[in-house]
Parts: sequence; C-alpha cells; structure tokens
Amino acid sequence: MKRIISLIIITIFITSLCACGCDYDGPIIYTKTSIYFDTPCTITVYDYDNDDIDIYDTIDEGFVLLGKLEKVFDKNDKKSDVYKLNHSNGKFVKVDDNLLKVIKYAKSFSKNNNDSFNVCLGSVIDLWGIDTEHPRVPADKEIKNALKSVDFNSIKIKGKKVKLKNKDTCLDFGAIAKGFATDALKKFLVKERITSGIIDLGGNITTIGSKDGGNFKIGIQKPFGKKGQRSYIVECRNKSLSTAGIYERYFKQRGKLYPHIINPLTGYPISTDLYSVTVIGDKSITTDTLSTALIVSGLKDGIKKVNKLDDIDAIFIDKYQKVHLSNNLKITGNNITFKNNK
Ligand code: ADP
Ligand code: MG
Repeated sequence: MKRIISLIIITIFITSLCACGCDYDGPIIYTKTSIYFDTPCTITVYDYDNDDIDIYDTIDEGFVLLGKLEKVFDKNDKKSDVYKLNHSNGKFVKVDDNLLKVIKYAKSFSKNNNDSFNVCLGSVIDLWGIDTEHPRVPADKEIKNALKSVDFNSIKIKGKKVKLKNKDTCLDFGAIAKGFATDALKKFLVKERITSGIIDLGGNITTIGSKDGGNFKIGIQKPFGKKGQRSYIVECRNKSLSTAGIYERYFKQRGKLYPHIINPLTGYPISTDLYSVTVIGDKSITTDTLSTALIVSGLKDGIKKVNKLDDIDAIFIDKYQKVHLSNNLKITGNNITFKNNK
C-alpha cells in the first residue's frame, strides 16, 4: 500500500525561475522529485552561469542512477544481488561493485559500533515488518532465534565474491543504501559540471558548492510535526546531513510506539530518550550510518561518541523537543552554525 501511495504521489515538478525579461538576477533553479528507495527524492540545481549544459537531462540521468542503485540494494527484489546473497545457503556469490564497497564499509562500521548498528539485522527486521503493511510484535522466542543470525563475522569476502557463512544471516541496507546513493549521485552531478545544488534523499541531504556565494540553509524536520515543518535551520556548504528519527516509520500497538530502528543487542525497536539525530559530515554514507547508530546509543552516549570524531557534528532532538548540539556547533535563535566556520 505504501508503495502504491508513493507511486500516486510521484510528483515531478521542474521549476525554472525565469532569468530573462524580469528583474530577477539570481540563478535559474531546476528541481525535480521522484520516488526511489520508497521515499521522495529531490534534486535541485542552481545554475548561475547559464552555460550550455542541459540540466534537465543531467537531473534525469541522476534519477536513472538512483533507479539502478535502488535495485542493487533491495533485499526483497529477487533479481538483486542482495537477495541472491541472502538466499545463497552459505555459498560464495559474485556481487555488484557498488554492493561490494558497501558490504566492506558496513561490516567494518558494524564491528566498530556493535552495540548500536548491524548490517546483518535483516531477519530481525523482517520479523517485525515495521516498514510493511503487516507489522507485528513477535514472540520473545522468535526474536532470540533470529538474533542468532545477526553476526557481522558471518560475512566473508574473497575478491569480488561474498558469502554469508551462517546461512540464516540476512543483510539489510536500510540504514546505509540511501547514504551511499546520495554520495554516488553527488559524484555524478559534479562530474557533469553541476557547481551548486542540493540532493535530498528522504533524510539524507547533501549540498554541492555554495548558494549565492554563501551557505545553504537546510531545515531539520520537527519530530512528529507536519511534513516539512522545520524545527531548526543548519547553515552549511559542501556538507552531508542525515537524520534518523523515530517519527517517520513506526507502528503503534496498545499505545506503544515501535519505531523502525532496532537495538541490535536486544532485537527490539529502540525505546529511546531521543526523537531524532541529525549527523553532519563530509560523506553521506558516514552520516547515514552514524545517525542510526547514534539514535540507538541515546543522548548521553551518542553525544560522547560524536565529540570524539573528527569532522563530524550532530544535532540531537530529545523527547521533549529540546535540542542538544555536539561541541563544534552553536545555535542562535533557530539557526545552527559551526563554531570554527567550517
Ligand atoms: P531512514 O530509512 O528513515 O533513513 P535510518 O537511516 O535510521 O532511517 O534506517 C533505518 C533502517 O535501517 C530500517 O528500516 C532498517 O532497514 C535498518 N535498521 C534498523 N535498525 C538498524 C540498526 N540498528 N543497524 C543497522 N540497520 C538498521
Ligand atoms: Mg537514514
């Protein structure tokens, strides 16, 4: 159903602010939204020099790239390498180069954040079915059983081949694929001579260059607010921002909210003091994975972790809608900026 609704609301609008015949002397703005990874994805390009590159075509090619990547990482698509790997009964499978890169990254990230992130959570995630039409609270026994297959040491890599030693291990890239795709799309657009723009893949935003020679102003969604309602604005350039939140995808049973983010140690959806975590860094693959890991860690441990990392900042919104910032950020009114002006 969610998929059907998504297809119905596929909105494709290309706005081009006319720079001729009027006083407007800003850039021509091209923006287009389409559904990939089950979420609206928007590419916006600011064209300052009005050179002869065909930006509409470039944006469309960017969406073609997203379509290809979506297929690679969809564990429910029988044709995808992830599906083949998850159903390979412990045998080696040759995988797509992009998938191989992400598996390597995800294995090492899961190892370094083993209390909060695990790319092998697939069977637990499927039990809960939170992103499906039929979410449910599984029996404790089922969860304990599924947890046995959650082990990143099960992933073995040999050249371009991967195997899952434990045949029940199931990889899930829900917390990483959009981040990887955001980086890949940015690389593509920059190669195609786009010098200013924003990519927004539902919670993963990255900026290209600067806006009118200055910072971009990126809004942070107010948790449980109306879609598009901003709680804070981050001023930055050439940065990636990813938000993990408990307000986006969840189901409720007997008044209890079960978000789609799972504690990998217990196999249960997180019960947390945070509504959302937005991570800011250079690469979207890093900010995407970290945002999920940090919301699982909770406020106290999460903020400690971030403050130890170089070139990473984070905005935590707690369950009272109060904001907490990592060391290098400051807030004035609703505007969040970097202390060291990076
Ligand atoms: P969003 O998809 O809204 O960006 P996240 O980036 O936080 O949200 O990713 C959540 C998705 O990641 C879940 O739908 C699930 O597929 C997967 N996931 C949930 N919990 C974890 C976890 N602790 N570690 C790794 N992946 C997770
Ligand atoms: Mg995410």
